Amino acid sequence: MKDLAPKKLESDEEILILKRQLERQKSARKQAESILEEKSYELYQANQSLQELIAQLDKRVDERTQELTAAKNLSDKAAQDLEKSNKRFELVLAASEAGLWEINCETLEVRCSERLANMFHLPLKEVAEQLSNLSIFVGETRSEVKARLNKAMASETTVNLECEIAVGTGAARWFKLNARTHFDTNGKALWLAGAFIDINERVEIAVSAQHMATHDNLTNIANRALFNKKMEEALEASLRSSEVFSVIILDLNAFKEVNDEHGHQAGDQLLRHVANNILSVVKNTDTVARLGGDEFAIILRGIKTAAYVQAICEQIIHRCGKKITCNEAQVGTYISMGVATYPNDGATTSELIRNADLAMYHAKKNKISESAFHVFSHELVANIQQARAMRLAIKEGIEKQDFILHYQPKYNVETNRILGVEALIRWPRADGSYTPPDEFIPHAEEGGLINELSEWIINEGCKQAARWFRQGLEIPVAINLSPLQFTEQNLPDIFYDALRRNNLPGRMIGVEITENCVIEDLHRANHQLSMLRALGLEVSIDDFGTGYSSLSYLHQLPIQVIKIDRSFIGQVTDNPESATIADAIIKLSHSLGATVVAEGVETEEQLAWLKERKCEAAQGYYFSPALPPAKIPTLASVTFQASSKNSRQAG
Ligand code: C2E
Ligand code: CA
Ligand code: CA
Repeated sequence: MKDLAPKKLESDEEILILKRQLERQKSARKQAESILEEKSYELYQANQSLQELIAQLDKRVDERTQELTAAKNLSDKAAQDLEKSNKRFELVLAASEAGLWEINCETLEVRCSERLANMFHLPLKEVAEQLSNLSIFVGETRSEVKARLNKAMASETTVNLECEIAVGTGAARWFKLNARTHFDTNGKALWLAGAFIDINERVEIAVSAQHMATHDNLTNIANRALFNKKMEEALEASLRSSEVFSVIILDLNAFKEVNDEHGHQAGDQLLRHVANNILSVVKNTDTVARLGGDEFAIILRGIKTAAYVQAICEQIIHRCGKKITCNEAQVGTYISMGVATYPNDGATTSELIRNADLAMYHAKKNKISESAFHVFSHELVANIQQARAMRLAIKEGIEKQDFILHYQPKYNVETNRILGVEALIRWPRADGSYTPPDEFIPHAEEGGLINELSEWIINEGCKQAARWFRQGLEIPVAINLSPLQFTEQNLPDIFYDALRRNNLPGRMIGVEITENCVIEDLHRANHQLSMLRALGLEVSIDDFGTGYSSLSYLHQLPIQVIKIDRSFIGQVTDNPESATIADAIIKLSHSLGATVVAEGVETEEQLAWLKERKCEAAQGYYFSPALPPAKIPTLASVTFQASSKNSRQAG
């Protein structure tokens, strides 16, 4: 609005214009004022909103700040919790002694924890490398681990496996391996993570427990349980591959004596000696077991020839037979072995064992004071069956009183008169012949029937001597005793009872024992013989010269008569060696104060030879065979006439 100052009024028109201008100006101003007024209000209003907004914002900020503070506090706590939990986790890991590892399923790269490296005694890098190519796993474990890990990477299975690992110390140790794979949402395997735990100690304990359950404590060889298992294995292998295998049963011959004489420590040492020596002979694939006591068993696998098995047996005998020193004493043993071979000698393990056992008994029976082995044969079974039948028959014979005694006279070579008789048992057959005593006495001994039989012989012998005695005939009867009978505790009682029952003086009875009877236990023999002597019985050593013929024991025992075995007498006139032995026995007997009876005298020349050497008595077919008792009194009443041979036919 320029030039609004009042000017000098020129005209009405001018005034009018001016007025109009003024009017317009007024209105404009009014308008402006109104706009301003309007705008101010708007502004006010806007300001008002703004203020509100700011207040809201402030409030929001406050709220947010509060929220954030709360959130921050929360996250601090979470962090603390996490840390705590991590610490706990680490503690658990430390306590569990687990070593951690993971495999990237794509690259197969392995990462592992420091602890794992320590556990394996290897540098970290090497552990990772060896885990990656699985070379850290020993032997059979490796393929199993590989298969299980592959499976775990393909599915959500957990690996849980015991495995053997070659640790850096050079030894192999047992670990438990756990692992599981992490998959993404699409099912793609990302990584496989797991842990190793050292379980070596536990495995070792388990292994040693297993060892104890399957091995003999004393010798550390297999026990019966493991032996049975190995037999089954051998049989299965043979069924698959037609492999031939042998089983050997081995038994020590007089192990009890070793224990009794040298103590159990020596016995134990001897058992270990035997076990070790068998082990030294057989192959790794064979089995050596102690079945109990002094009984061992061996399984020989992959047999090609019978000669091989025999060679093994011979070596075992050779090595086991060597003496060992225990408490400064030399201790040794004889062994008996029986062999049975699959498939010829048995189709089942029990049959094979039974047959090897039979063969062993056969070996032992033949040679008790010598080591021996016997190979099973079906003939052996036949013999055993025969023996069993024989034992049954003997038992029945005793019950039915089928046995009888015959009596063979002994002559005084100077007077040619009977000085006594020897009772010899006879078992009549249906056809009138006799089963020879040599054929059934051993069976009676083995079958445990000898005591029963001997008791009958003693009673019968006493009864007969008493009959003669009552007739006024003093014919002493000598009774043969088997070694088994001789060791019987109540033997003197049996004689005492028999003498008393028959009212017979002891001098009318004699006993004939072999060297086998006394040699095993001199002390006991001495005791037994002294008791018999106290009853008045005469004691003869039978078959002298065939056994140990040891001079050392003879003078320690109360022996009155020595009988020279007929094997020497039969040859005295034509074999200088036999003559020398017989001569020596006569001299020895005389020096001990014993009288001599020559057995098996068959010729006049033999008798002449004996007479010349002052042998007191003779017995044999030259004089008379064993005769039924009824024939004896006649012979006893006369002097033997060399020309009259009737007596020879009499039996
Ligand atoms: P032994 O005790 O040596 O008995 C002597 C054996 O020689 C008897 O055989 C007898 O008949 C036989 N003999 C006798 N004179 C001669 C001879 O001039 N030449 C030959 N070649 N032989 C002769 P036997 O009766 O067969 O008895 C054999 C063995 O059986 C006996 O040998 C004895 O060991 C045992 N024995 C016999 N009877 C009994 C017995 O009652 N109890 C026991 N435990 N064993 C007996
Ligand atoms: Ca005899
Ligand atoms: Ca004899």
